[in-house]
Amino acid sequence: MTRVVRSSEIKADIEVDCLIIGGGAAGLTAALAASETGATVLVAERENQLSGSTALSSGLIPAAGTKIQKKQSIADSEDIFFADIMTKNKKTSDFEHVKKIVNQIPKTIDWLSDKYEITFHVLDNFLYPGHTNHRMHTVPEKTGVGLIHRLETAVLKQDVTVATGVQVSDLVVDETNKAIGAICLRPDGTSEHIAAAAIILACNGYGANPDLIAEYIPEMKDALYFGHPGNQGEAILWGKALGAELLHLSGYQGHGSVAHPHGILVTWALMMEGGIQINRKGERFSNEHHGYSEQAVSVLGQDGKISFNIFDERLAILGRGFDDFNKAEESGALIKADSIVELANKIGVDPSTFHKTLAACDEYAGGDKIDPFGRTFDPSKRLAAPYYAVKVTGALFHTQGGLRVNRDAQICHPNGVPFENIFACGGAACGVSGPDVSGYLSGNGLLTALSLGEIAGNKAGKTTSKSN
Ligand SMILES: Cc1cc2nc3c(=O)[nH]c(=O)nc-3n(C[C@H](O)[C@H](O)[C@H](O)COP(=O)(O)OP(=O)(O)OC[C@H]3O[C@@H](n4cnc5c(N)ncnc54)[C@H](O)[C@@H]3O)c2cc1C
Repeated sequence: MTRVVRSSEIKADIEVDCLIIGGGAAGLTAALAASETGATVLVAERENQLSGSTALSSGLIPAAGTKIQKKQSIADSEDIFFADIMTKNKKTSDFEHVKKIVNQIPKTIDWLSDKYEITFHVLDNFLYPGHTNHRMHTVPEKTGVGLIHRLETAVLKQDVTVATGVQVSDLVVDETNKAIGAICLRPDGTSEHIAAAAIILACNGYGANPDLIAEYIPEMKDALYFGHPGNQGEAILWGKALGAELLHLSGYQGHGSVAHPHGILVTWALMMEGGIQINRKGERFSNEHHGYSEQAVSVLGQDGKISFNIFDERLAILGRGFDDFNKAEESGALIKADSIVELANKIGVDPSTFHKTLAACDEYAGGDKIDPFGRTFDPSKRLAAPYYAVKVTGALFHTQGGLRVNRDAQICHPNGVPFENIFACGGAACGVSGPDVSGYLSGNGLLTALSLGEIAGNKAGKTTSKSN
């Protein structure tokens, strides 16, 4: 049970300045920032090891104006990035909130890189949908596991306590709604009381809570959930009980390219660089370049809730640059054929319809016809034999709505007045994707995990008495 307990005091087993609930990218970034202020910091993570959705992710963080971009001679600006985010969410996100995050993220990337030696580079061989420039920063492993390990290594070198197997069940607040601590459950059923001068909610959203999904995102209630099981929505439930403002709870990131039944993400780079998606009839059904998030809904709308990613050897080589793609290939998810007819027969679609679909794509690329779905086909990226197919389905990756935060990452009442010492970051906070699936620009998840994580950690640390 998740509760807010009201009490003027807490009989504490442990006392810290700053309690961070959740040990994903948001929580660990917040821990680094809070620790720099001199505050004592405890990260409470319900699982036995640090992972979160962060470790399941591709680990790609968009940022404009970093030192790394400059080093790679990539011209970009906060204004262009801001415009890309607002175009994707159709201007449904709060202008100031997005500005703050776009302004913060390059500083956070440079800070992690300079101070904590977390090495990043920018992927510059393809653009993700909706991004004007190359700005996806990634650690050398190009995985979320690599990112979480590097953050964990940095945190463990600081004076920060990371407690795993600790599920925070209750927040304790006084009569003025000031947090004074939390109650935690241990796997053996015992509980501990932690007194804290500030609390950071870094426990992500509610993707793993079927009741909350049915309530706020009914279109995905029967879909595969591909995020972390620890994301049970406590931040939302505490926020509700506190009377805090919650925003865009119907917003989420979906993905239209999870290998089925293997359950492995197949990079959308294939679609951006010339691949297409077809249904069981052998027909395309959407503009693949609109974005992989909304494509989840389009794929789930096809017969059997599946579609096929179609690509060729050139794109398979591109895909092999990604860990997940290699796992999909090793698992036998890739079907290869020397001709269109052979591939059609192998995947069970009508060869003549499939042939017509590919021929039409060639005509769009040649400028003879316009794609009815509105995609621009690049003539230099036509598919050629040998061909590949992967059967995929659509999935829910993570929720994007959450607690509305101000520029200091404090959670707020509906009238805008902040809660003095309760902060939210990452998937616990309302992101920058607006109220529906189509507003998610690639990377919006880790964008708010890292940027709001640094802000929350810094501000929370500074509000605590010892560091003042
Ligand atoms: C397959 C996949 C690929 C993705 N790829 C990308 C990408 O390339 N780029 C991008 O920007 N985003 C991506 N995302 C989204 C991204 O992973 C998330 O937005 C991001 O990891 C959120 O970070 P977080 O720290 O808020 O949450 P998490 O990393 O999920 O961490 C939250 C932690 O809180 C813990 N927790 C929850 N409740 C409690 C509690 N009550 N007590 C104690 N601990 C608790 C959880 O166990 C969890 O470890 C992807 C997501 C998925 C699923």
